Amino acid sequence: MKKVYRNVNILDGTEDMKLQEGMKVTVEDGKILSICKDDGSTEGEDLGGRYMIPGLINLHVHLPGNGFPKKKQSDSRKLAGLIMSNALLREVGKKICSGSLKTQLLSGTTTIRTVGGLGHMDSDLRDQIKAGKTIGPRVISSDQAVTVPGGHMEGSVAYGAKDDQDFVRFIKENVDYGTDWIKIMITGGVLDAKVKGEPGEMRMSEQQVKLCCDTAHQLGKKVCAHVESPKGIETALKCGVDTIEHGAAMDDRLLKMFKDSGSVLVCTLSPAVPLAKFDPSVTGGNEIQRYNSEVLLEGIVEATGKCLKEGIKVGLGTDTVCPFITHYDMWRELEYVHYLCNIDRGTCLYLATLNNAGIIGLDGVTGSIEEGKAAEFVITEKNPLEGFDTIREPYMVVFGDKEYRKPKVKKSPVAEEYLDGYLNTLKA
Ligand SMILES: [Zn+2]
Repeated sequence: MKKVYRNVNILDGTEDMKLQEGMKVTVEDGKILSICKDDGSTEGEDLGGRYMIPGLINLHVHLPGNGFPKKKQSDSRKLAGLIMSNALLREVGKKICSGSLKTQLLSGTTTIRTVGGLGHMDSDLRDQIKAGKTIGPRVISSDQAVTVPGGHMEGSVAYGAKDDQDFVRFIKENVDYGTDWIKIMITGGVLDAKVKGEPGEMRMSEQQVKLCCDTAHQLGKKVCAHVESPKGIETALKCGVDTIEHGAAMDDRLLKMFKDSGSVLVCTLSPAVPLAKFDPSVTGGNEIQRYNSEVLLEGIVEATGKCLKEGIKVGLGTDTVCPFITHYDMWRELEYVHYLCNIDRGTCLYLATLNNAGIIGLDGVTGSIEEGKAAEFVITEKNPLEGFDTIREPYMVVFGDKEYRKPKVKKSPVAEEYLDGYLNTLKA
């Protein structure tokens, strides 16, 4: 099947992208067949001078939940335990995750990497999307993460391994099942910190991190790690972690170590913003959380800026399901990087598209609007380089041979109000 889109302005997602005005894009069988100047012929669809960008790629997604604000933060351990307790409730859990995936795609995110879920639901849904049985983006799965008892998210989206053998067994089982990446939780997080100061207290030992990395690498899989402190970054780098999620402030020594390692920082500003900037009564948290989130936010901002300056690869993700972090707001992460890290919007768009694709080994397939690539793009009303908020109401999302016109998703008015309020303070 052939589709022609004409009279469209393209931002192609490559590093040195320039706005290509008045273009014509021909898609055949879900792939971009050709891109050329619009010759004025009347074939296909006139996009009226709208803008075309590659579908966004979100490298840090949890599927179980919608991230809508709640009065009180829920007990994820108890909830996960309940969902996984019998087949009927597991189906309910899967429905929730499936809804999250649909929202991601309809909001212009065409590829996601999951980084901690329930059992093997992420991989199961990945396969169902591939088979055309359900709607969603391309999924790179991590399924349930692994940590130690008492580790970050243990008992919900992470499994607490009892000893070395248990770590190896768990990782092997995931790989055998078809899980794409192995996620480990090295440090604690802001949601489970008990004292003011360091949000990412060490939970896994260096030896355990090394064991996980070696086991995964021997099986041909990459490792992503939850890390929220300098000590955690150092441990991750020493042991060969492939992508360090979140991050923390780094001194010159750590920065050099990072550069030499070839590892990647996956920046997630989104989850720290509400916890750091909104009153705890709004996020359902407490003052310790708020204080630590402020430390974390400053740390990630600093680390992202330094890494980009040093030529260390930086990916972007949103950490969905954290309070206020929904499945439709990837555009906000780009806007945060632009304002908080002082990075131009062209670079932000590149980071979230072709750059992110490269981090998960898909830059030959997706991430840019180039001939031969998968037809995965978003049509926006305005130029995204003048404000990514034009992505929040896409004119169209194209995913292979499927087109979603003016897609609507269920949003949280409370989250919108608070997050827009914060964004306005950045713009001011
Ligand atoms: Zn996370």
